[in-house]
Amino acid sequence: MLKIKNLTAHYGAAQALFGIDLEIAQGETVALVGANGAGKSTLLKCLMGLIKPSGGQISLNGNDVTNTNPARMVRLGLALSPEGREVFGHLSVQENLLLGAIPLKLAKAESTKRMEEIFSRFPKLLERREQLAGTLSGGEQQMLAMGRALMAKPTLLLLDEPSLGLAPLITDEIFAIIHQLARSGTTILLVEQNAARALSASDNAYLLSNGKIIEQGKSSKLLNDPILRSAFLGAASDANPAASRLGAAGLTNIRLEKPDMQQQNFMPTFKTEAELQAHQLTGLQWTVRHAYEGSSVYRQKLDAAGINPDLIRSLDDLVKLPLTTTADLRDGYPFPLRSVPFEQVVRVHASSGTTGKRKVLCYTQKDLDDWTHFFARCYQMAGVTPLDRVQIAVGYGVWTAGMGFQLGCEKIGAMAVPVGPGNIDMQIQFLLDFQSTVFCSTASMALLMAEEIHKRGVADKIAVKKIIYGSERSSRAMRQKISDLFGGAELFDITGLTELYGPGTGIECSEHDCIHYWGDYYLVEILDPETLQPLPDGEWGEMVVTTLCKEAVPLIRYRTRDITRIIPGLCHCGSILPRHSRIKARSDDTIKFRGVNIYPSSIDTILSAVPGIGSEYQIHLSRDNAERDQLRLIVERAEGVEAKRSAELSHEISHQIKKQLLVSVELELVDYGSLPRSEKKSKRVFDDRFMDEIV
Ligand code: ZN
Repeated sequence: MLKIKNLTAHYGAAQALFGIDLEIAQGETVALVGANGAGKSTLLKCLMGLIKPSGGQISLNGNDVTNTNPARMVRLGLALSPEGREVFGHLSVQENLLLGAIPLKLAKAESTKRMEEIFSRFPKLLERREQLAGTLSGGEQQMLAMGRALMAKPTLLLLDEPSLGLAPLITDEIFAIIHQLARSGTTILLVEQNAARALSASDNAYLLSNGKIIEQGKSSKLLNDPILRSAFLGAASDANPAASRLGAAGLTNIRLEKPDMQQQNFMPTFKTEAELQAHQLTGLQWTVRHAYEGSSVYRQKLDAAGINPDLIRSLDDLVKLPLTTTADLRDGYPFPLRSVPFEQVVRVHASSGTTGKRKVLCYTQKDLDDWTHFFARCYQMAGVTPLDRVQIAVGYGVWTAGMGFQLGCEKIGAMAVPVGPGNIDMQIQFLLDFQSTVFCSTASMALLMAEEIHKRGVADKIAVKKIIYGSERSSRAMRQKISDLFGGAELFDITGLTELYGPGTGIECSEHDCIHYWGDYYLVEILDPETLQPLPDGEWGEMVVTTLCKEAVPLIRYRTRDITRIIPGLCHCGSILPRHSRIKARSDDTIKFRGVNIYPSSIDTILSAVPGIGSEYQIHLSRDNAERDQLRLIVERAEGVEAKRSAELSHEISHQIKKQLLVSVELELVDYGSLPRSEKKSKRVFDDRFMDEIV
């Protein structure tokens, strides 16, 4: 949208800008950061036509606009909210606002309409519409300056030092408004001395020092870069102001939101695959010995397979170990595969399931610490920082989800808003009032919220930038819809299962085409679900996991039933952590329908209790236009049962399913013998919900 090439500017004989190159794309927020006198305001004034550049070119949407006068720049779509507000103190709020649209020569009705829009965005200005601008507080004057610029409905808004001289609380308010503006599609060039603030509110940033750009890049990267951050803090403490390029930029007045904002790093320290493998082998040897010595169940299984812990000499020995399944967990209810004494168990969690068949997992303190650590790593990989507010809308209690999201969030230093699932009104209220920047839920819940946000028309009033969702498969179309209705939020699919600590054992990275999994905590094998033989990298199969340091309930070659594949090679995001595809399906027949787990066997049971019904049936799953799951059940009548009884039978089946499984299904009754039979197990479940490619 805006392109600045080799721009120079002088104040008399003194040169202020030295060959500035800068670009802003449509819809982007770009921060220009630097100390007083770095040249930031000069650059903005050149853009607005308030100062004539001495060289170089400014182009807007492909047209050369160098040396264009300010009124024309406003008509071309630029507006400036200047440093120091520059409101007219003897004019009223309304009169000040109207000044912003003067170059456009608008009809009175249009000016009034725009003013009302400004008032709805800045309710404080509405309260003071008749008041003289000189009597407003600093924050209100800043709102007025921004409102005046917005009267021109700019396509590119230039904000010069919006937080200068404001109290932290007022600064929060101003930045919330900037964020809303960005979400509603306004392109923004933000000039700020408060580097941490500016970086966290922008997509890209340029660091300006003595009239030159000395650093540029993605803001999240600059904000998270440990070297730059230590330079921030170094500069802020005055200990070593010239220690770095940021220090050289003179950023000595950075106000940090939290005193302990040093970047914590939760990524592993190994640098090569060989180092990772050495760590994995040590972990595997420890795990096999620990399980063998700690659990009689494991000892029996290993003995039966002829394994003694001394035989594990390389990672290739993994395939010799016996598989562990959900049956092993259920058989050992209530404390299956426990490998430490009870006095070391500090917590239990359970997975959902029919009563009496829940999988219960024990945790030692170290297990919980490890889980918290790598959950924080998930947040780090998704770019969550201590400036974020994380609204957690997953289940709390005996389930692993809530605890995991909560502890990881606190560990990384972000603000947790623990709401739990459902409760749509409260969720929306908190999104609006707390301005949560991250939303965590299941995919269905995210979709539900997205639709509600859309319905209530509040997309530009919320601040969610990232959605972390898990526990369900989701198509690209569904992801796109959630992102769109949430005002363009970035989605991150998080993986995990209760047996393997809980959620947070891997997450999608910023490249959005894989899940990085924590290879320093567990091993992944991909097996053919039929033959149980290992498959080569890149082929789809069942994920089988072996933990490397889990104490209370170690897992040895545990069959997760999740279908995925290993993606070989390194990711473009730069992480060395290994990766797999997003989970495509489950190898057993469990159907996940509107967040409810349904086993086909339970449908079997219900149908067999209805007289007049045959044994063959098919379950068809699809998604309707609103991306909601639909379940259609095709059932055969029993031999000799007449078609005219279909309505009565359908009614009874629907009633029973609703009563026992708590879901509504669509029913179709067909003649006996019309569904296909097979020698092997008939294919009964047809899941057409994921038509598009899953990467
Ligand atoms: Zn990656």
